[in-house]
Amino acid sequence: MAEKFYCKYCGNYASSVRFLTGSNCPRHPDGAGKGKHVLYEGSEKQQYTCSMCGAKATSIRFLVNSRCPRHPDGAGKGFHTPAL
Ligand SMILES: [Zn+2]
Ligand SMILES: [Zn+2]
Repeated sequence: MAEKFYCKYCGNYASSVRFLTGSNCPRHPDGAGKGKHVLYEGSEKQQYTCSMCGAKATSIRFLVNSRCPRHPDGAGKGFHTPAL
């Protein structure tokens, strides 16, 4: 079974870290496409929890799809971030 490496901002994945971090991230905090995907360093889970508000989702992609009411930039100013 091939290992998957996920981006913590957008939930996209690739078969290697080099591949993942070699392309632009549509959810980069500096702006869409302003930076590369960043590796999610936690292990693959059945359920992911937002480190800021505790929201849960079954995939990183689902979790980061909605805005976080406890985001450090202000309520709803950014997206959930998966805890490790
Ligand atoms: Zn990404
Ligand atoms: Zn959150």
